[in-house]
Amino acid sequence: MNYRFGESAFVQPVASAQAPQQQRTTAEYRALDAAHHIHPFSDMGALNRAGSRVIVKAKGVYLWDSDGEKMIDGMAGLWCVNVGYGRRELADAAFRQMQELPFYNTFFKTTHPPVIELSALLAELTPAPFNHFFYCNSGSEGNDTVLRIVHQYWATQGQKLKKFVISRKNGYHGSTIAGATLGGMGYMHEQMPSQVEHIVHIDQPYWFGEGGDMTPEAFGLARAQQLEHEILELGPENVAAFIGEPFQGAGGVIFPPSTYWPEIQRICRKYDVLLIADEVIGGFGRTGEWFAHQHFGFEPDLITMAKGLTSGYVPMGAVGLHDRVAKAIIENGEFNHGLTYSGHPVAAAVAVANLKLLRDEGIVERVKNDTGPYFQSVLRETFAGHPIVGEIAGTGLVAGIQLAEDPKTKKRFANGGDVGTLCRDFCFNGGLVMRATGDRMLLSPPLVITRSEIDEIVSKAKKAIDATALQLGLS
Ligand code: PMP
Repeated sequence: MNYRFGESAFVQPVASAQAPQQQRTTAEYRALDAAHHIHPFSDMGALNRAGSRVIVKAKGVYLWDSDGEKMIDGMAGLWCVNVGYGRRELADAAFRQMQELPFYNTFFKTTHPPVIELSALLAELTPAPFNHFFYCNSGSEGNDTVLRIVHQYWATQGQKLKKFVISRKNGYHGSTIAGATLGGMGYMHEQMPSQVEHIVHIDQPYWFGEGGDMTPEAFGLARAQQLEHEILELGPENVAAFIGEPFQGAGGVIFPPSTYWPEIQRICRKYDVLLIADEVIGGFGRTGEWFAHQHFGFEPDLITMAKGLTSGYVPMGAVGLHDRVAKAIIENGEFNHGLTYSGHPVAAAVAVANLKLLRDEGIVERVKNDTGPYFQSVLRETFAGHPIVGEIAGTGLVAGIQLAEDPKTKKRFANGGDVGTLCRDFCFNGGLVMRATGDRMLLSPPLVITRSEIDEIVSKAKKAIDATALQLGLS
């Protein structure tokens, strides 16, 4: 790209589906990618044989690939592009900050305006008891940071025995060693002979898959009470914290029954166990509330954030500390944790611009009052009685569509992963990015999506799921 200094060139409106400017052919990109790039969570042999999809441009809720194909992004990138693609305000904020102060650290008694502004703004946007924030570069680092804070907190309380952190099977908390250990993805643990100590997992509140004949409410209570059993087994004096995503994202957009979180909170309070909400996906408007724990009506002690904090325009993560935790950390000497880029000025400036858009354009409110309810009702109407749809889970602009061999009896496919992949391939061919996790299809579009764009996503999803049913002989 050629552009002159002082001219913003990377937010050109894409007026139509014309092929975007690019420097190489798709075949050249694929060959170079295969030769030099190892992708996350990928079987590289298989990927290199098939060739990667090359995304070259995006605007609003749309993506374009290197062949000029236009797709609607039902996943907001990777659950993160909350304000949509191509917002000039964010590009301008980064540009200005890079000229003013591209980097300075926040160690050694130093700070800078963007990180100050961001912290003050987060204190405004998070619930009242959250007034202090620690910064990092990703959700995984956020959860590593959370562990460090939890252990330091209990040390300051003279309770050093409190070391165990209880998490959940099929939860996702990142891919650093601590994040992956906290997460309950067995396939990740298998590749990690060495894991972080003092982390144990209880079962997930996945009613459709594991609830049997129980009502959702009874099942939600039973799964929450596993926490109490685990705490009693370990000894409450040894248990430091419980961590959970308010709804499981990567695990399949699994929404817990309404009884689950109140019971989890009761148990944490009873045994003096810190409650951590991993809001990396749920935060910044996804459910129509600023934070997903507000939707579920509980109050965590620590909040992990990333993704929507900057809408993914630049990497940034953060941990929010409840006043009682913050006080203990602040008043008890040095906290030996930090990253070169903690509170990076460019990331902080972009985060501030992003949060102002979410607030001042009423984007979060629109998800709550308009587009969220619309999305949920169109999905439920469209798939009511569908031969292979077992449930629609979700609220606001996030949904999990459960594929099932027999929706009435909740019978799942024996080869659920293959069915999900088949459906996902139909989606891509039909111009929709919809993710598959096993036998659940996931949607989490940018929060700026309009009603007509929602109609487009849902009708494309319907076509793909119909095609899947047809191929399986179940339509
Ligand atoms: N926590 C949750 C709930 C997540 O969904 C993710 C990523 N999808 C992470 C943590 C890890 O974030 P990152 O990939 O930015 O390290």
